[in-house]
Amino acid sequence: MRTLFSLFVPGGLIFFATAALLQLGLLHKSLSALVHIYPFAVAGAGVLLGWRFNRSRMVFAILVLALADRALVSFPIGSAKPVDFGQSVFNAVAFLLPLNLAALSFMKERGIVTLRGLIRLSLIFIQILAVYLICRFPQLGIAAVLNYSMNDGSVLSRLPFALPALVAFGAAFLLLTFRFIQSEGVMENGFFWSLLSSFFAVAMVEKRYLSTIYFATAGLVLIISVIETSHSMAFSDQLTGLPGRRALEEALLKLGNNYSVAMLDIDRFKKFNDRYGHDAGDQVLRMVASKLAKVTGGGKSFRYGGEEFTIIFPGKCVAEATPHLERLRKVVEQTRFIVRSHKRPLRKPEDPKKIKGSRKKVKITISIGLAEKNERYGSPREVITAADKALYRAKKAGRNRIKT
Ligand code: GH3
Ligand code: MG
Ligand code: MG
Repeated sequence: MRTLFSLFVPGGLIFFATAALLQLGLLHKSLSALVHIYPFAVAGAGVLLGWRFNRSRMVFAILVLALADRALVSFPIGSAKPVDFGQSVFNAVAFLLPLNLAALSFMKERGIVTLRGLIRLSLIFIQILAVYLICRFPQLGIAAVLNYSMNDGSVLSRLPFALPALVAFGAAFLLLTFRFIQSEGVMENGFFWSLLSSFFAVAMVEKRYLSTIYFATAGLVLIISVIETSHSMAFSDQLTGLPGRRALEEALLKLGNNYSVAMLDIDRFKKFNDRYGHDAGDQVLRMVASKLAKVTGGGKSFRYGGEEFTIIFPGKCVAEATPHLERLRKVVEQTRFIVRSHKRPLRKPEDPKKIKGSRKKVKITISIGLAEKNERYGSPREVITAADKALYRAKKAGRNRIKT
């Protein structure tokens, strides 16, 4: 369910909304006004946002989309004879566009006005020159290659694309699908839907306005993905992926009249860090967080800070939340954490399994303090403080337990 959601939101949602509005003819009357505003608003917002958030990949992608759109508008198919300049431009754009989007999705964020950023920018401008030369000098033979089509009456040959463009789009779709599955990132998702919208834009080249609107939507998908990425960067903890302190503060404001809050702390974690190193400590935090993320009973987990976590149970009193926390405590206790011994040999042994003690299974435990909203603790702050005090009692009583 969650994977399906992350597949369609936000990119798919925007794409399908646009497609539905256009195909049902709902934008019929406002279409000509829309093409004079929508693409420019997207381009302006994209560049501004990309500059302020330093998101060069989005800026370059929007530049590529805008160039493709302007090229198709400026050189319509069937213009000049004897050689159809417009057809050549179309073939070249349809071939290069998917390759550019796929390449950008695989690139790392390297800034705009940096050496790498400027190299990327010049690569885009070199392509403009290349397209011009290809179309202006058909005797080079490249235009003919890009125009190669299969006229076998199959579904593919009925699309307005020549074979090289179809292959380029196909390859880009495969790459971006792979990329999304591999990373499940919001930006990768955005590039996928942006590519699909661009495909529609190119396929509808004869329906002028529609093409431009699909191009603009391809840009909008990327903008929304950047905003969503920035939001999740601010609200989720980078190490564990759990929502962070800021998200907790917001969630506390939304609680009703009935809830309980648990404070969790890893036992003797300082010792663990000292013995196995800070990196192994970070791995433990990740492991514990992954268990906490799966807490039952409608609980929502947050990283409070350091090795402390918070779980809120909306609508549940202490008695109702306890069994779910007890299960969680047991799951963590039963999970063995495998670490390499601190005293590992300097050189990598041939077979690490043969070296005694090079790998060790370590037991990790957590202590939990739980409190609920009642007459004594009226505000979320007070409930948290009470849970913190209960946590202290759990530590004092020997750790690896729940106290209320
Ligand atoms: P207790 O059972 O009483 O909780 O003992 P403790 O050692 O876990 O408690 P204490 O609060 O004294 O130590 C917390 C340690 O957690 C300190 C620090 O080394 C470690 N720690 C906090 N944040 C991080 C982190 O992000 N990564 C790693 N690796 N360690 C962290
Ligand atoms: Mg602590
Ligand atoms: Mg601790």
